[in-house]
Amino acid sequence: MRIDLHVHTWPKSQCSKINPKDLIREALRIGLDGFCLTEHQVLWDMEEVRKLAEENGVRIFRGNEFTTAQGDVLTFGFYEDIKEIITVSELCERVRAAGGFSIAAHPFRGFKTFGFGQLEMSLDQAGKKKILQFVDAVEIRNGRVTENENEVACAVARKLELRATAGSDAHELDALGTWVTVFDEELETEDDLVDALKSGRYSIETLR
Ligand SMILES: [Zn+2]
Ligand SMILES: [Zn+2]
Repeated sequence: MRIDLHVHTWPKSQCSKINPKDLIREALRIGLDGFCLTEHQVLWDMEEVRKLAEENGVRIFRGNEFTTAQGDVLTFGFYEDIKEIITVSELCERVRAAGGFSIAAHPFRGFKTFGFGQLEMSLDQAGKKKILQFVDAVEIRNGRVTENENEVACAVARKLELRATAGSDAHELDALGTWVTVFDEELETEDDLVDALKSGRYSIETLR
């Protein structure tokens, strides 16, 4: 089942232009089975999400995207409301204690000077990035970063043997599905999603 794990909607994420109703329509149109709402430090109300999903015949899961002192982290199965900026180690500890799952979002965004030619040499350095020592997985394909930045994330995930996920990070409708995570099994609940993320039984695809 094809899930876009990383989507922002307006107004919960002020930086997004996507209206939740349009998002659902577009998701169905491009062949997504569902998506995760990962606003910036805002968690959707369970009942609201359940209603939207049921009325529209699409899977909608709740996640969260936290800004930590060491970079952005997507969380699933974690329902604490944290508004202040904490460290990645504290966040990941809390997520793990709650039985959740954490993913380093676009870990090499902005590392544009990091060329392919130097990749071999720099891979060791890249792998030492602090955020990667605490998360459960790395977002190796993100729709808002350069190909090179995704390639570095990909190489580092392989090197550190971390799970690898993908998401569009859509802030505009036409970005939805640029990268999706394809799960082997049917996911019904948020617990199913967390179990599947932990299992590693998924691959990556693009719908654009
Ligand atoms: Zn982010
Ligand atoms: Zn994001």
